[in-house]
Amino acid sequence: MSAPLPYLPQRVFAAEDGTHGIVPQALIAPPRYVQGPNVWERLGRYLSLIPSTNAAILISAGGQRRDGARLLQSIRSAQIAATTVTFHGECSQEEVERVVAVLRASTPAVDCVVAVGGGKCIDAGKCVADRLGVPVVVCPSLASNDAPCSALSVMYSPAGVFADVEYFPHSPALVVVDTQVIAAAPVRYLVAGMGDAMATWYEARTCLRNPQARSVLGARPTLAASALGELCARTLFADGVAALEAVQRGEVTDALERIVETNTLLSGIGFESGGLALAHAVAQGLTVLPAVHQHYLHGEMVAMGLLTQLVVQSQADEFQQVAAFFATIGLPVHLGQLGLDPDDTPALRAVMETAMTLPYIVNEPLPLSVDTLVAAARHAHTLGNDVAQRAGDAPYRALHSE
Ligand SMILES: [Zn+2]
Repeated sequence: MSAPLPYLPQRVFAAEDGTHGIVPQALIAPPRYVQGPNVWERLGRYLSLIPSTNAAILISAGGQRRDGARLLQSIRSAQIAATTVTFHGECSQEEVERVVAVLRASTPAVDCVVAVGGGKCIDAGKCVADRLGVPVVVCPSLASNDAPCSALSVMYSPAGVFADVEYFPHSPALVVVDTQVIAAAPVRYLVAGMGDAMATWYEARTCLRNPQARSVLGARPTLAASALGELCARTLFADGVAALEAVQRGEVTDALERIVETNTLLSGIGFESGGLALAHAVAQGLTVLPAVHQHYLHGEMVAMGLLTQLVVQSQADEFQQVAAFFATIGLPVHLGQLGLDPDDTPALRAVMETAMTLPYIVNEPLPLSVDTLVAAARHAHTLGNDVAQRAGDAPYRALHSE
């Protein structure tokens, strides 16, 4: 007996069987998204919508110390039973199987998994819920990445090396973002999320304009997803600096609310249904260098990937606008700010060799090669260096001084 094929949206939406060559437009998204200061205290009320009567919370030991008691109290106050499972830190098949075994043994059966934490805990929670055949509820404690709203998990080996991407037939049933928690987290996470979210528009636009391009779903992007992507860039330019200052003060403001929604909801739907392109190919390529992977966040690598994409696309004015914004909030604008030497040809070639293998690189209609990408990254480095000279690098140094 052969194992069933893993679920792949590309297989469902893209009509790979060739029937009439139809490539439809498609959009997926969580059915419920709630955001605001202290909304975690009403988590039980929201879980009653699932509806859940016996929830499992997947959360790290640190998360339990910070938020475990009030989350349990909120759930139990809605007459919902709750158990806690400690997340051990890596989103690997081994960790997922361990948690699944713990929850399979619990009676009565768990009817909902609540993942509380950063991207890896959220992605592990999606896997656990999928294995148990129950909905996943996502409570992100950081606004640093696109994980909360998507129906996919990035899987790693137990040692933390990227393994593959797992896709699920369901988006998270509910996403609850407590902006008071985001405001209390280190500001570097919010800034990294802004790098990830800024790329959403420029990648979605590339996919919208190239009729051959496909979203992560294997489908053509809808106008809706592209519009959410465009709103990401517009909101970041308008409110990004004010949101950063709010987190520096530990305060929830309207600007912070708008940027948290941008980093989490708009960018999450925008990347999944609007499509990825060169910026994320370069960002994923950068993870092959341990020195980058271990010291920089996903959104920081995406920032350099986006600047490389704008060079490839000869968008000189947009390059200046985006790089100036990145320098102001402390994102990397040149290779040195990712700990890389622009003259280290073997390292840059390794990055771009990986980038060229990723499925979304073909969404860029211009002819590309490892050589052209290395040259583009070096050109982005030179231009970005000029921006850093003019703007100063105090915001970057403030985030990277520890
Ligand atoms: Zn991303």
